[in-house]
Amino acid sequence: MLVTLVHLITGAADLAAAFLFMYGLKRMSSPVSAPSGIRVAGIGMLVAVLANFLQVFTVDAAAKPHLWVNIILAVVALSLGASVAWFKGRTVAMTEMPQMVAIYNGLGGGAAGAIAGVELLGNKTHGLTQLIVTLLGGLIGAISLSGSVIAWAKLDEILKKPMRFKGQRYLNALVFLAAIAVAGYIAFSVDNGGVTLLPIQSVIWIFFGLTLLIGILMTLPIGGADMPVVISIYNAATGLAVGFDGYIIQDPALMIAGMVVGAAGTLLTLLMAKAMNRSVSNVLFSDFGDVSKQKKSKMTGSEKPVEASDAGIFMRYAASVIIIPGYGLAVAQAQEKLYEFVKLLLAAGVKVRFAIHPVAGRMPGQMDVLLAEAGVPYDLIFQLEDVNDDFATTDVALVIGANDVVNPAARTDKSSPIYGMPILNADKAKRVYVVKRGQGKGYSGIENQLFYEDNCDMVYGDAQAVLVKMIESVRGLGAAAA
Ligand code: NDP
Repeated sequence: MLVTLVHLITGAADLAAAFLFMYGLKRMSSPVSAPSGIRVAGIGMLVAVLANFLQVFTVDAAAKPHLWVNIILAVVALSLGASVAWFKGRTVAMTEMPQMVAIYNGLGGGAAGAIAGVELLGNKTHGLTQLIVTLLGGLIGAISLSGSVIAWAKLDEILKKPMRFKGQRYLNALVFLAAIAVAGYIAFSVDNGGVTLLPIQSVIWIFFGLTLLIGILMTLPIGGADMPVVISIYNAATGLAVGFDGYIIQDPALMIAGMVVGAAGTLLTLLMAKAMNRSVSNVLFSDFGDVSKQKKSKMTGSEKPVEASDAGIFMRYAASVIIIPGYGLAVAQAQEKLYEFVKLLLAAGVKVRFAIHPVAGRMPGQMDVLLAEAGVPYDLIFQLEDVNDDFATTDVALVIGANDVVNPAARTDKSSPIYGMPILNADKAKRVYVVKRGQGKGYSGIENQLFYEDNCDMVYGDAQAVLVKMIESVRGLGAAAA
């Protein structure tokens, strides 16, 4: 009776969790509903975890002498993981988010690989199909773990340079083929009664060693700046591995969660690649961002520095201003000062809008999150396709900590690594102010002709310090008038 009741409750809980995951994800598609979407998906995860603990009432405790020890260990692991994630989630800086996503994703892949490992080492698989799915889950999960750890190290600049050597691709292909061959050997042997040359346990460990090596070798040659796309690929892989695990241990919630993550990760990867006008294979196998290999393009004109206060006052008397935030805004953590400045302009009757490029910053949606953090209303924020035609009729484009996303080379220079990437038409505005610290390049490592154009002035300095000066200058006008 109790067992039937528990089966009923866990079945319903799995269904509820699956619904909450999907509904949560749907809500994450807009910045307005995203915070509640994250909470909804979190509740889904809680429901799924609690339902799994209920399963304990369906197990014959006499047949499982370590049952309670295992449950205590699971609770300790969950509490530790939840406390670290809670603390890190509250304290992480916006510029460190990609690293955090990388490491969490790696842990997800590792957990998926570990489930497959436990099933294989404990000889718990039933039939060839389940065996193959388990090996696939192990392969993908382990690649995602080691690949994400390397991605994290690159983003954190622990590993500074892409590691490339002659014959690297052949070595990668060889290790991959070796892992597939070992997997085939395991499947064949286990399916035929577990007779192998080496003890089967050792062969399984060799398999996992090779799969971890694939993740490392695949990620080492890719440039640090491409890591967000790589993480998105590994995210899709982790989802797939988790989905396979759900099939192996017959857990529908795990299966659905894995598939949702796998599909979302795949779509995100494709969207990021499209917004950069690059193919996924170009991200994985090209030397993008390797400045040593780039042709130097000659800039015409000169950079014209102006004072922050002059730029501030000019914008106060403009009719319309479009602001383009970029990675530097996140570095400077100047979003609140920026909104303070915008409020002064709005109060003076200036029409102000924000233009967001899909890959501004180092993570999809990073600029939306920054602006939301500062309390900027959503009706001031416009995506590229909704605002790009308006630059030509706008008085000022204020480029703040952005570079590549306003580089006209993407339109005109066929030899440029960013050629073809859609950009924000800041150069078409009547006047352009660019706030940046100095001569630093953007993520792609190339020069920007916009900075040398006649209608463009450079306001040098950290974005936060520049905005403080702009705010003071506009406030000073008000005080002088009074
Ligand atoms: P960029 O990286 O092109 O440029 C950032 C600029 O900010 C730099 O030129 C730098 O110049 C300036 N800067 C840095 N710190 C500060 C500061 N404290 N104050 C003021 N300025 C500062 O950024 P964009 O946002 O324009 O472009 C994003 C790039 O990242 C694109 O090429 C995109 O393809 C790539 N990318 C984006 C991903 C995403 O998902 N968003 C993922 C992967 C790649 P200086 O040093 O002189 O101050």
